[in-house]
Amino acid sequence: MASSTKHTSGDTLQRRGLMFILSSPSGAGKTTISRMLLSRDPQISLSVSATTRPMRPGEQDGVHYHFVQQAEFERMVDADEFYEWATVFGHSYGTPKAQIRAGLKEARDFLFDIDWQGTQQLYQKDQQDVVRVFILPPSIDELRRRLTERATDPADVIQARMERARAEISHWDGYDYVVVNDDVETCYDQVCEILHAERRKRARQTGLIGFVRELMKD
Ligand code: 5GP
Repeated sequence: MASSTKHTSGDTLQRRGLMFILSSPSGAGKTTISRMLLSRDPQISLSVSATTRPMRPGEQDGVHYHFVQQAEFERMVDADEFYEWATVFGHSYGTPKAQIRAGLKEARDFLFDIDWQGTQQLYQKDQQDVVRVFILPPSIDELRRRLTERATDPADVIQARMERARAEISHWDGYDYVVVNDDVETCYDQVCEILHAERRKRARQTGLIGFVRELMKD
């Protein structure tokens, strides 16, 4: 039986983890879907970035970020320890490779809540482990409604948010999957279908070679 061979763990074959990227324009529901995935699926966890910005109240080192000094961050850049890194509002942020590489070997999946530029960088570094999912709003009217957070926001502020959202949407074709978020539970189910199917990809099922070899024995 499959579960009794050394190539399996529990009732599934051994597999390699994956890097699951969720991107969307703000207002499309990416943060909600990310939270649902993290709270409902124990195999996936959020990738924890390193940053040089000061810790905010309520944040924990190693949970929200790895908080490091500028000199340490520069050492990590020089030692090629990041998948990607960027300077945002005067502080440095980067995705450390070591924790992710170790996790992938142990069938742990990592969620990345990043924009299209971060997605491109990550994909260039590691195509076989990356799965790119883009979430779209159901209509432009609904997006406008979601971006009109306060009724008192001036029209030009709302307009600027809409422009930013449109710019992000223009990168939809750089993703493997695109999901329309009309209803949050339906969207979540569709994102889960993608995640579950990707976990089952032959190339990720590292236990298959040995398992099939056993099947083919006399
Ligand atoms: P905050 O300081 O508010 O947590 O994040 C500021 C910005 O940095 C956000 O836009 C966030 O997406 C971005 N950011 C956080 N971690 C990383 C990372 O590892 N790489 C890149 N490129 N951006 C990041």
